[in-house]
Amino acid sequence: MIRTLFFTFLFLETIYELCLTLLNIRHVKQHAKEVPPLFRKTIDEDTYRKTVSYTIDKNRFSLISQLLSTVFILVLVASGFLGILDEWVQFTGWHLYLQGILFLVLLSLLVRIVSLPLTLYQQFVLEERYGFNRMTGKLFLSDLGKGLVVQLILMTPLLLGLFWFMDEAGRYWWIWAFLFVTLFQLVVTLLYPLVIAPLFNKFTPLSEGSLKEKVLALAEKLGFQTRGIFVMDGSKRSRHSNAYFTGLGKVKRIVLFDTLTQTLSEEETCSVLAHELGHEKQKHILKMFLVSSVFLFFGFLIVDALLLYEPLYRAFTFQRPSYHGILTILSLCVGPFTFFLNPLINGLSRRFEYQADRFVVERAGLGEALASALLTLSKENLTNLTPHPWYSFYHYSHPTLGERLQALRKGTVA
Ligand SMILES: [Zn+2]
Repeated sequence: MIRTLFFTFLFLETIYELCLTLLNIRHVKQHAKEVPPLFRKTIDEDTYRKTVSYTIDKNRFSLISQLLSTVFILVLVASGFLGILDEWVQFTGWHLYLQGILFLVLLSLLVRIVSLPLTLYQQFVLEERYGFNRMTGKLFLSDLGKGLVVQLILMTPLLLGLFWFMDEAGRYWWIWAFLFVTLFQLVVTLLYPLVIAPLFNKFTPLSEGSLKEKVLALAEKLGFQTRGIFVMDGSKRSRHSNAYFTGLGKVKRIVLFDTLTQTLSEEETCSVLAHELGHEKQKHILKMFLVSSVFLFFGFLIVDALLLYEPLYRAFTFQRPSYHGILTILSLCVGPFTFFLNPLINGLSRRFEYQADRFVVERAGLGEALASALLTLSKENLTNLTPHPWYSFYHYSHPTLGERLQALRKGTVA
C-alpha cells in the first residue's frame, strides 16, 4: 500500500516534469523562426539560432536524465537493494551509528557512480558542443575527489550528531535535532567562503584600477563596506558567467566570475554588483534561510511521527527500523511528495530578484546598465529567450530575461 502510494507519486512527478519539458521544447521550436521582437535590436539571428538549439539540446538531455533517475529509483526500491545493503552493513558488527554512516556513504557513492556518465556527457559533450566547456579531464577528477572528501567530512559529524539526538534527547528529540541541523548549516555557511570554496577556486580581491574605483564609489554611495569583493577563476571550468553573494557576518563577500568581468563593461559590472548588494540590503539570503528552516522543521516533525512505523520500512525493503533507514526513505520521498510546491519557493525567489533589480534602478541609478548587462550575459550564456510560461513558472528561480527587461524599463521611466 505504502509502496504503491510512493510509486504513484513518483510516477506523477515524472510525468509532470516530462510534460513540462516537452511543452517547453515545443514552445521554443514554435518561436525559432525569428528573433522575438523584444530582442530584435540586440540579438542577431546567428546567436538566436544557437540559443534555440542549445536550449533544445539541454531540454532533451534533461528529459533523458529525468527518465533514467526515475528508473533508477524504481529499481532501487523494487529490487530490495536497500534491504540487502542494510543487512550487509549489519554484518560489519560496527556501532549502530557507524553502520548508519556506512550505509548512507555507500548509497550516496552508488548514486554518484550511476550518474557519472550523465555528468560526463553534460560537461564534455553538450557544453563542449557550444564552446562552454573549459574543464580538463584532470580537473574533473580532482573536483570529484575533493567533492567526495568534503562530503564525507561534512556528513560524518552531521549524521553522528543527528543520530545522537534521535537516541538520547527524549520525547522532543526532533526539536533539538532541528536546532542542531540549523546551527550546523549556519557554521557551514560561515566556513564555506573561507575553507570550502577556496579548495575549488582561486579568489582574488578586485585589483586596483578604474573598475575598483567605480566599485568603491558605488559602495560608498550605497553605504557598504567594500572589503569583500572577489573575482573568482570560473573560467577554468566553464565560459558561463555569474555573480553571487556568500557567507555571513564578517565573512560576507560578493563573488564575480572572471568571465563576468571580462565580458561586461565597467558600468555593467557595477550594475550587477549593485544587484547583489540589493539582495544583501533587503536580507534576501536570511529570508530564504528562514523559509527553508520552516520546511526542515516540518521534515523533522514527519520523521518523528514515522520513526517507529514498521510498515514504512518494509515498503522500502528494510528489515528493521533504523535512523539511516528513515533518512533514506525521507530523501526518496521528498521529491515526489513536494514537487508541486516548487513554484512557491521559486515564486518567492523571483520576487527577490525583482526587488534587487528595483534597488539597482532606484538606489544605484544603474537600471540602463543592468538592462544591457543582462542582455550581454544572456547572449554569452545562450539563455533561452522564449521559455514556455508554465515551464518558467515552475522551474525558474529568476524572472525570464524579457520579464526583467520590462520591469527595468518601467522602473527607469517611473
Ligand atoms: Zn539576484
